[in-house]
Amino acid sequence: MGSKERYHWQSHNVKQSGVDDMVLLSKITEEAIVENLKKRYLDDYIFTYIGSVLISVNPFKQMPYFTDREIEIYQGAAQYENPPHIYALTDNMYRNMMIDAENQCVIISGESGAGKTVAAKYIMGYISKVSGGGSKVQHVKDIILQSNPLLEAFGNAKTVRNNNSSRFGKYVEIQFSRGGEPDGGKISNFLLEKSRVVSQNESERNFHIYYQLLEGASPEQVENLGIADPTYYFYLNQSGTYKVDGTDDKKEFNETMNAMQVIGITAEIQLMVLQIIAGILHLGNISFTEVGNYAKVENEAHLAFPAFLLGINEMKLREKVTSRKMDSKWGGKTESINMTLNVEQAGYTRDALSKALYARLFDYLVDAVNKAMQKPYEEYSIGVLDIYGFEIFQKNGFEQFCINFVNEKLQQIFIELTLKAEQEEYVQEGIKWTPIQYFNNKIVCDLIENKLNPPGIMSVLDDVCATMHATGEGADSTLLQKLQAAVGGHEHFNSWNQGFIIHHYAGKVSYDVNGFCERNRDVLFTDLIELMQTSEFPFIQMLFPENLQNEKKGRPTTASMKIKKQANDLVSKLMKCTPHYIRCIKPNETKRPKDWEESRVKHQVEYLGLKENIRVRRAGFAYRRAFPKFIQRYAILTPETWPYWRGDERQGALHLLRSVNIDTDQYQMGKTKVFVKNPESLFLLEEMRERK
Ligand code: ATP
Ligand code: MG
Repeated sequence: MGSKERYHWQSHNVKQSGVDDMVLLSKITEEAIVENLKKRYLDDYIFTYIGSVLISVNPFKQMPYFTDREIEIYQGAAQYENPPHIYALTDNMYRNMMIDAENQCVIISGESGAGKTVAAKYIMGYISKVSGGGSKVQHVKDIILQSNPLLEAFGNAKTVRNNNSSRFGKYVEIQFSRGGEPDGGKISNFLLEKSRVVSQNESERNFHIYYQLLEGASPEQVENLGIADPTYYFYLNQSGTYKVDGTDDKKEFNETMNAMQVIGITAEIQLMVLQIIAGILHLGNISFTEVGNYAKVENEAHLAFPAFLLGINEMKLREKVTSRKMDSKWGGKTESINMTLNVEQAGYTRDALSKALYARLFDYLVDAVNKAMQKPYEEYSIGVLDIYGFEIFQKNGFEQFCINFVNEKLQQIFIELTLKAEQEEYVQEGIKWTPIQYFNNKIVCDLIENKLNPPGIMSVLDDVCATMHATGEGADSTLLQKLQAAVGGHEHFNSWNQGFIIHHYAGKVSYDVNGFCERNRDVLFTDLIELMQTSEFPFIQMLFPENLQNEKKGRPTTASMKIKKQANDLVSKLMKCTPHYIRCIKPNETKRPKDWEESRVKHQVEYLGLKENIRVRRAGFAYRRAFPKFIQRYAILTPETWPYWRGDERQGALHLLRSVNIDTDQYQMGKTKVFVKNPESLFLLEEMRERK
């Protein structure tokens, strides 16, 4: 067992609770999995393995086993030496990276509130603790750790499901020197839910930063930024929720500002960031009334403050939110005319501006973090993916469609890298095994992202958006007809009167097409870009770098093109890494510790595919090692192998296995490797080695 004692939780006197690794379950049914997780959960064990996959059940309370002592104990230890832990998985990644000189990644999945972001933070914290480095490395560590409060302030919000819900996905690559010191990093962000900037459902909030600013602003900022009570702002008062239990917005404001400082954002830019946040709040208070079918700004006084904060002309702002330049064709000629908007269109335009400002500010912050920890060349890296899991709601729109598409792609990687690779290795090594039937979801990915023959859903959507000028219901129902014509016969597709159903790997999801075209187009009217380019603040100009003269050609980028590219870039990055998995489970809706809702957990166990996962592991072999490495590790067990084996390596490995009387059905000899079926046989070997 190495020099370290076998570890027991200090704070509990519980005996082994359920099984540590569900590969060892005597019955593999969903009920048995749920039962085992429950037993462990109620005994305060939140972690359980399926082979190398870590299952984590949200305890909704601070567990005692995340101290420096655990960091010490898990360092350099083998998986079976200690109880399952996220530190064990992290340590394993870190060591694999160093020993095998291979990049590693961990895919953290699970529904909203299951604990993905907390898990990601534990991983970063552990790496930061166990890796060395001087002051330059310490600086990179600080940036990586501080990027969390910063991006959470701007990208997280209270939702009904989670008081600190990430409303964007992120992939954080921690880059290392050959010596294993984190000396660089890169964050990629996905799918920020920008609709939240302008409206929120009941009991939810806008992004945290708004409430932080209102609580934390200095008297001078209150004055300069026009800070008022949150109830004053339309963008905050629609949901009627302003506070979050257990969250001190003022304290978090200071943390956000401190994070900006650490990242190297200058005081001047920090102020600009706050000014834009306040500017958006004030934009939201511009309201419209109808005068003869047209929108008129209801209270002209409300134009002054946003114009002032954003450094633009007040009259121009009024003009741009109540009218729009349109190209119109007259007898073969194209002319620009100014069209006056109605109340609904004016509100839409104001909101479009607010959302664009916010989304671009968010991208700027991610960029700033990246610049601060940029490294000129890549050596090793560990990537951490924290991205929303599958979403199946009563009503599913374009956002769910994009999120579920990304999850479908992630499942593809899981299949490619885990199931397929596992079985291919058996073939290569000439190992006897029973093939496992699994559903390959490539067919669903193709249904969504195929370019041609037949075109996939995203292609059809882009076509409709490119050919139809109007958005709204007309375009959406055309979309539905075209989808029916293009993929109506696909076995994973059905349509219904308001949309379509996709049979995802995780279940059927029914999408409402309403709003698909508009969300997909996602264009910011050139008027608004022009307006922002007139800002007196260089920082705001920089957020709108478009060269409007040259942009007429070609199709504009749509939201689905963007997510498709991001998803495929992510996939190709992940495919170059050795993957690890954390499956997070949310045990209840109450957010209370020790509360276990059986049917909820069962549902998650189902769509996370845990049963399949165990079946594949069981049919397979828990442990495999190349002959020389195997001999080297266990050489001490027999006189013939100690200090080294002189003969054929395959024979040497076999000699070792026979000498310890492991059942012959417990292992197989491949062409280059030993395959041991059950982890317990391995424990036996390890224990014998210890006793020597
Ligand atoms: P979302 O998809 O909405 O972002 P998430 O999976 O990232 O959800 P988290 O924000 O990580 O969920 O967790 C939700 C809350 O659950 C945390 O704020 C924390 O209160 C609690 N929690 C999660 N994991 C743990 C843990 N390991 N220990 C203690 N509390 C936890
Ligand atoms: Mg999260």
